[in-house]
Amino acid sequence: MSHDPVKHGTRLISEVIWEANSTWGLLSVRVGNVDVWNGLEWDLVDLLSHLAHHWTWLVWRDGLPDGSPEQVDKWVRARECEHGDEFSNQLWEFVVAHDLGGAFDGALVTPLWLLRRGALFEVTHDGGRSYHPVVELLNDLGALGDAIAERVRLHREDCEDVLSRWENRHAVSGDAIELATGRSEAWLRESGVEPTQILREARGKPWTSAPLAFARMVGGVLDASSLKLVFEALARRPKGGPSRRLQSLTRDAESLLEPGDLPYEQGYRLGRWLRRIWDIDGRADPESVLSQLGVDVLELDLRTNALDGLASWTKGLRPVVLWNESSVRPRRATLAHELAHLLVDRRQALPVGEVLGGVVVEYVEQRANAFAAEFLIPREDALLTARLEGWNARRVVERLRNTHDVSVTMTAHQLLNATTERSGWSQSDRAWLESLVNRADDVEKHTGTRFLGSELELDLEPDS
Ligand SMILES: [Zn+2]
Repeated sequence: MSHDPVKHGTRLISEVIWEANSTWGLLSVRVGNVDVWNGLEWDLVDLLSHLAHHWTWLVWRDGLPDGSPEQVDKWVRARECEHGDEFSNQLWEFVVAHDLGGAFDGALVTPLWLLRRGALFEVTHDGGRSYHPVVELLNDLGALGDAIAERVRLHREDCEDVLSRWENRHAVSGDAIELATGRSEAWLRESGVEPTQILREARGKPWTSAPLAFARMVGGVLDASSLKLVFEALARRPKGGPSRRLQSLTRDAESLLEPGDLPYEQGYRLGRWLRRIWDIDGRADPESVLSQLGVDVLELDLRTNALDGLASWTKGLRPVVLWNESSVRPRRATLAHELAHLLVDRRQALPVGEVLGGVVVEYVEQRANAFAAEFLIPREDALLTARLEGWNARRVVERLRNTHDVSVTMTAHQLLNATTERSGWSQSDRAWLESLVNRADDVEKHTGTRFLGSELELDLEPDS
């Protein structure tokens, strides 16, 4: 798992110095304050052709492919595919479509990866990774393509097909649904939605479509009939939208997000802040906060414990959190996690909702998990209790569970996060706390079930 600072940008700026009467030119591309390509000399028909061929992928594809996302992310980060990596055709297509550097076939060009994640574009290059509003980035790419197309019309007569492909780039091809959701049209139909209608409603902006986003986020873990139950529950919501109170709280919360901070630092800050302005001492009650913000909490049995719940805030309907009755994560931890998204992710990373345990941008999940931990059991309280209980780990955990009503795993996490090697724990007490966290990680690894914040059956008595 990676921990990048959270960097947001707005523009991808490109500039071409053209050779006289030619489609050759010197291309420079800048992302944020990083020069990704500086005076790259090439026949830019190749770039236009690349953009025209892969436009549907860039717009419709949401996130890394299923199956081996970590492997693909490794390629993207290493900016190359190692010789000998096994590619299926679909993975190859993915890699080719999303690296703009691949347009310059034969040239040694540093890669520039563009991948839509919800309503953001994840942009990865030599200088790091940043996130950009999808509309702005597509406009910038469109402007670059248009500038090249104009040049091609003036100086080339052999590029009719490239030009026509570029002009028709917005035509939605047959695989759009599959790119956007990772599922087939037939599968989507089984979940109760009609693909042609969805395509029509999405109007070329797949990130605005709740059915597409949820079908994508459940990541193949939920079968179509369970997703159908979700859609039916979501459709029964009363009309409305985010309450004024939620909107104003979102504005304040967003202003607390320091750019360049790590996701967990942002999450901790938000968690502390919300406790302070809500005047919470000891046990926090995320359900009551949600209710005061006009967010309903409903229960639904998703018939799997692979997903903990989901939240939806589609336009025109009252926001809702659905808690999965089969989930192993405590209800309070799930609700606190969703509260984080409701506060800071509605406008960008998660435009229609989110699925906890599903396919969601990593930094957003790290931030929401840190928020939930700090909101339910602040590190400050953990440290204070450790001192009060004379650094006796079992007594500390027992007491914190009573005062803050959270799981053993989350308590151990926060105790370790609040203290250092030099804190007052004996070696064996520290090892015991680590074992509580590791035990959860182990279960997670071996069963594929996520246990962060969940309750394990643990013997709290000292080892004899
Ligand atoms: Zn989440």
